[in-house]
Amino acid sequence: MAWIGSVVGLVGLTKLTGKKKAPEDTTKKASPSGDNGLGEIFNQPGLEDLREAFGVAPAAFVPVGNAHSVPMKIGIYAPPAGGKGTQCANICDKYGVKQFSTGDALRAQVKAGTPIGKEAKSFMDAGKLVPNDVIEKVILATVSDPAYEAKGFILDGVCRTQVQSEFVVREGMMPHINIVLEVPDEEVVARISGRRIDPTNGRSYHLKFAPPPAGEIANRCIQRSDDNETIVRTRLEEYKTNKAGALAPYPSDTVVTINGLGKPAEVWARVDAVLAGAKSGVTSAKTQAFFDQ
Ligand code: AMP
Repeated sequence: MAWIGSVVGLVGLTKLTGKKKAPEDTTKKASPSGDNGLGEIFNQPGLEDLREAFGVAPAAFVPVGNAHSVPMKIGIYAPPAGGKGTQCANICDKYGVKQFSTGDALRAQVKAGTPIGKEAKSFMDAGKLVPNDVIEKVILATVSDPAYEAKGFILDGVCRTQVQSEFVVREGMMPHINIVLEVPDEEVVARISGRRIDPTNGRSYHLKFAPPPAGEIANRCIQRSDDNETIVRTRLEEYKTNKAGALAPYPSDTVVTINGLGKPAEVWARVDAVLAGAKSGVTSAKTQAFFDQ
């Protein structure tokens, strides 16, 4: 019956993105691990563009773990101001999972003056990554809350290095699906100056592109101290240096890279399409092929 879920998921993808063409059925093409072995190589992230030249088909249908099971375990990756916070709020609203942001958890520790907060502060102020051993303590302290197990979760910027992702795998929290939002550097820098955060719930806004509702919410919004151009360039470098390593421990067919440019609602339509597809049993390899068309 898995095919019913796939069909439902693909119909969902078409509807949500406004695209009429259904993704081609890659199951009918050569296996990615076909006789010549090239599929193994050219279905790796970053090498997909070379597939055609080498006559390699996109990865065939391979079920993505138990992505369609409940509760969902999701990971999201993006550069600073890449839209993670906004999309996480949407994901939590629709899919009922609990958000876990190490950035938010660390800021809470800094505010409360805990030993973890004291250790993390100088790194955060400089836009550098907080050391892995500190992050591991934050992860363990946070996920001891049984709500994460009960509701499922979205790991929002939790795994920023290979060591952290391997830790998450060892702790039994490997995401069923990992969404990577791609946003060019200059867009990140442009977004940062206008970004404002609602401190009561962590929602992010942008003064020009997604302004906070006037009145009480707009009045209480703040600008983060590390949201300035100099520090954001350091944060961006940290992201780019560590991104491949952070994704390396996850099977490549659980990773879907999507365009993070556009209005928040447009990006949400893409994110939702991926998650709706994953829930219905559509593989991320197939979903990725759809977005790549
Ligand atoms: P964010 O709120 O996600 O932009 O994170 C703010 C800052 O917290 C980052 O610039 C890092 O200094 C720190 N941070 C958050 N999550 C991590 C992590 N998983 N590993 C290392 N540092 C982190």
